[in-house]
Amino acid sequence: MGNCCSQGANAPEPDENNPDPTVSSSSQPSADKPPAINVGPTGSSPSGPKSPGSAPIGPVLGRPMEDVKATYTIGKELGRGQFGVTHLCTHKATGEQFACKTIAKRKLSNKEDIEDVRREVQIMYHLTGQPNVVELKGAYEDKHSVHLVMELCAGGELFDRIISKGHYTERAAASLMRTIVQIVHTCHSMGVVHRDLKPENFLLLNKDESSPLKATDFGLSVFFKEGEVFKDIVGSAYYIAPEVLKRKYGPEVDIWSIGVMLYILLCGVPPFWAESEHGIFNAILRGHIDFTSDPWPNISNGAKDLVRKMLNSDPKQRLTAFQVLNHPWIKEDGEAPDTPLDNAVLNRLKQFRAMNKFKKAALRVIAGCLSEEEIKGLKEMFKSMDSDNSGTITLEELKQGLCKQGTKLSEFELKQLMEAADADGDGTIDYEEFITATMHLNRMDREEHLYTAFQYFDKDNSGFITKEELEQALIEQGMSDDRDIKEVIAEADSDNDGRINYSEFVEMMRKGNPDPTPKKRRDVFLGA
Ligand code: ADP
Repeated sequence: MGNCCSQGANAPEPDENNPDPTVSSSSQPSADKPPAINVGPTGSSPSGPKSPGSAPIGPVLGRPMEDVKATYTIGKELGRGQFGVTHLCTHKATGEQFACKTIAKRKLSNKEDIEDVRREVQIMYHLTGQPNVVELKGAYEDKHSVHLVMELCAGGELFDRIISKGHYTERAAASLMRTIVQIVHTCHSMGVVHRDLKPENFLLLNKDESSPLKATDFGLSVFFKEGEVFKDIVGSAYYIAPEVLKRKYGPEVDIWSIGVMLYILLCGVPPFWAESEHGIFNAILRGHIDFTSDPWPNISNGAKDLVRKMLNSDPKQRLTAFQVLNHPWIKEDGEAPDTPLDNAVLNRLKQFRAMNKFKKAALRVIAGCLSEEEIKGLKEMFKSMDSDNSGTITLEELKQGLCKQGTKLSEFELKQLMEAADADGDGTIDYEEFITATMHLNRMDREEHLYTAFQYFDKDNSGFITKEELEQALIEQGMSDDRDIKEVIAEADSDNDGRINYSEFVEMMRKGNPDPTPKKRRDVFLGA
């Protein structure tokens, strides 16, 4: 796919001493290693994804190997990249179709390559639920390969549509760019820098003209903290920012790459072009942008102004995603973006706030079941919000953390969120509370998680959760409810027998989690 190089990442290293994703049972907070979640029914942390029998641990994902073909039928080839071949696949039980990217382990020649795949999985899990990011359904490792089962994007690559259209009208380009910048903003606000943004890595969900756009290929992405500096030269030649070539860069590189995409959308050729890679890099470092050749004389000054500001060689002067969205050329009908920017952490906190204590307590048990790869991103976010490394987030740290992501909240709203997440009421959010309140609710799709949570409450294994059992569990978690427990039970008790059976429990967990900010998909209109 034209990746010029991938020299490994200098992102935070995984826990080398503990490649097994099972969360450790230590609960001592420490500066760089948040305490493990320890709320399982037996007092020990449940392990990560289970596999039948005692399969050997895979060296890439660090958990028991599993045969993807036991769950999916693999179909025709959809595309190929540097490391992977992607096939259509069908879930045997439901008939649902997905895309399965298979990465041959023999191609992962060094520790960095393995680390890249592991991080790709962690980052895709972390970005779960973002409407314009390809969703990862599951990751499997067998003897020869790693398989990533993803949402199927049947509309092909954005690149192909660009080629077939030549270039875009300004209006169409602005609309497309808005979606792309939103995606970058989402990644950055979740502590992820993509590092390989280019038209080939945006896929269209379906073949419609108005198909939603989805970012994919997080194989070179990394988690970043404010002020962190990266050195590896990664990316694809035309789209690489000058500071990457100088080996000193941060998340601003993503804006440069999509600035290059904008230039191409408007005129059909890349801004920095040469016969050789070396020549391209020289052109990038020179930074001269041609606005004189056709069709630039006919392109609006607003468009040129935005391109110039996105392709500013100084990353500090370059516009941020938020500033790009507020640039006059990109604003919808001259107005500021009408929906608040997607802020996943904030949305998840709000959703959590709306739940009753029963559900919150159940989520806490489920959080304890999640594997390292599923919560790695949230762990990174927790660490970056916990600025004094105390192992807890204070009200001020939460405020600063959300503010860095471009969100300003009233003191009142902030306090409400804090109180919702702070299960034990000690005035701060600890690691366990943070994961519980911000994990994505689609984790509840997993039957084994729900079952573990049910068993946690059903202390005597009778198949029912009684009022006494719920009361005891809430006290155990330091969450006794002011509300009458009976009322909480009644909410879920569809057959009115005064206790909760498993299907009532599942129904309660899965229903009533409306999206706090209905997603307004800024769908791409590729029409002229
Ligand atoms: P690599 O990381 O090896 O470069 P990619 O993730 O870019 O691999 O995938 C290679 C190709 O497979 C893509 O260019 C695209 O054509 C196809 N592909 C990848 N993901 C999907 C998907 N979710 N749906 C449909 N096709 C996909």
